Amino acid sequence: MSTTFQALGLDEVFLKAIADLGFEKPSGVQEQAIPALLEKDIDMVALAQTGTGKTAAFGFPMLQKINTDSKTTQGIIIAPTRELCLQITNEMKLYGKYINGLNIVAVYGGASISDQAKQLRRGAQIVVATPGRMKDMIGRRMLDISKIDFCVLDEADEMLNMGFYEDITDILSHTPETKFTWLFSATMPKEVSRIAKEFMSSPLEITVGAKNMGATNVSHEYYVVNARDRYAGLKRLADANPDIFSVIFCRTKRDTQQVAERLIEDGYSAAALHGDLSQHQRDLVMHSFRSRQIQMLVATDVAARGIDVDDITHVINYQLPDEVEIYTHRSGRTGRAGKDGVSMVLVTKGEQRKIHTIEKIIQKKFISKEVPSGKEICEVQLFHLANTIKNTEINNSIDSYLPEINTLLESFTKEELIKKFFSVEFTKFHNYYEGKRDLNVDLSKGPSKGGETVRYFLNIGSRDDLDWKRLKDFLKEVLSLGQDDIYHVDVMDSFSFFNTDKPHEEKVLETLSAIQWEGRQLSVEVSTTKAGGKQRGRKGGRGGGRGKSNRSSGGFGNQGGGSRTRKRRGSTSGGSRREALEGIKNTRGRRRRR
Ligand code: ADP
Ligand code: MG
Repeated sequence: MSTTFQALGLDEVFLKAIADLGFEKPSGVQEQAIPALLEKDIDMVALAQTGTGKTAAFGFPMLQKINTDSKTTQGIIIAPTRELCLQITNEMKLYGKYINGLNIVAVYGGASISDQAKQLRRGAQIVVATPGRMKDMIGRRMLDISKIDFCVLDEADEMLNMGFYEDITDILSHTPETKFTWLFSATMPKEVSRIAKEFMSSPLEITVGAKNMGATNVSHEYYVVNARDRYAGLKRLADANPDIFSVIFCRTKRDTQQVAERLIEDGYSAAALHGDLSQHQRDLVMHSFRSRQIQMLVATDVAARGIDVDDITHVINYQLPDEVEIYTHRSGRTGRAGKDGVSMVLVTKGEQRKIHTIEKIIQKKFISKEVPSGKEICEVQLFHLANTIKNTEINNSIDSYLPEINTLLESFTKEELIKKFFSVEFTKFHNYYEGKRDLNVDLSKGPSKGGETVRYFLNIGSRDDLDWKRLKDFLKEVLSLGQDDIYHVDVMDSFSFFNTDKPHEEKVLETLSAIQWEGRQLSVEVSTTKAGGKQRGRKGGRGGGRGKSNRSSGGFGNQGGGSRTRKRRGSTSGGSRREALEGIKNTRGRRRRR
């Protein structure tokens, strides 16, 4: 099966660049896409998981087809994030390094628009852009895409997830009818099919590997812990893997920042990557990560999307994402370039069913594992040290110091020296883990270790523009509670229910009865209906009108269904999460004024 790059029909200038890059043979998606795009002018939809070389699959055909004698912009590539935009630009420049007169310009938010405009004025045959900035620059007449021949939508699923639907359609409205559109995506949710239907004419479809399949050399593991032990669990996973080079995914910017800060305090080389950092900070973080000064990168999904760093040994899901697709993207950060990788998930007992949902969709089994004990960690660390010593090449520059060192240590036997030497490392871990409890949750016991649960009735519902997700976010925020502290959120037409553990009862009643939701005074009561925490974790269908959306592919039962609804709305109303947060601010503002 395996063809060569020559056989795909690429010009000599590209074969030379490919040789420089060290690519030996085309990947699956390249083998299919490159000849098809070179031979004919067609629209294309290509599905291939992350790390399969999609950039080259569209990059080479585009480069070969453009005319570098002209300065007109002939090709645009739209990608979801600044990092990807820069990554694609760099790759494209390498692919086209032997073409004279080629100019590729990256256009993205967070950097000087006038600098980018200046670069464009020199004439860029290819523009790589994030949707927002591109739309902006078209509007300001800094960029003319009315004569393009090719438009690539890269990571289309993620762009739509991020609510860029309208920006993309706006951009496409400035392109000529005659252009060809090439859509690349790791997954094919409904929104992507919709783009394909609306904006492409009988595209050639290419699928490499099964749709939605995680990378095959990635193993998936999960660890069941109590919600309050997530951080301790993470720390143990890191300590039990001394050579870890990992991305840790959190759901929110706040968690991302907090986890990174705690890791740093605890002495790890870690850093946070999320949207609240300045572009400069993000660049620094990525640079340190690529150069291995950072061992653990704690990131949000959006910030880490598509980042192409080889040799990531572990992906750790500090929390599970709402959608299976996102899990696929996360785990695709490891196991790249034929290497093995591990995707680890920290879950609470109640979240275990989500693991089974993922298993079904990615068609891979998870291994249920125990969080290592302190003793196991000490052992791992000692043998790691012993191996490091064994494999360390002797540095002869040390010779000049040896006489003094020998004098200092001369009274010790070899055994004593080894003991002392290893104790340096051992004591550190031993003291830390001494007496620390087992973090594993006893799965044979009944639900909700925290004891009693309380169900509340709240006087707002879907009429008040709420869905369960939005209500949960609101409650988390105003009550300063965590993701797992509020559960069984059921939104009815004009009222809702939710649960917390008993210890939060007073706070819930007190806080909620003192605030408003969109101008309406909240009223909260302890509900006497028995739909309480007893059912926790038992099964999905909790009623309350959420069941319908469950069936959408790729969602985690209730949660996925809900968040899908949210996202779809977000794409037309500009992000309902943002609105939810603004709603919270408003409510709080009112509260203060009263
Ligand atoms: P994707 O967009 O599918 O996630 P990328 O285009 O970012 O993947 O490519 C992932 C990595 O693989 C990059 O570092 C790229 O240089 C490298 N690569 C691409 N094609 C090949 C190939 N044929 N052989 C070896 N490495 C390749
Ligand atoms: Mg890519």
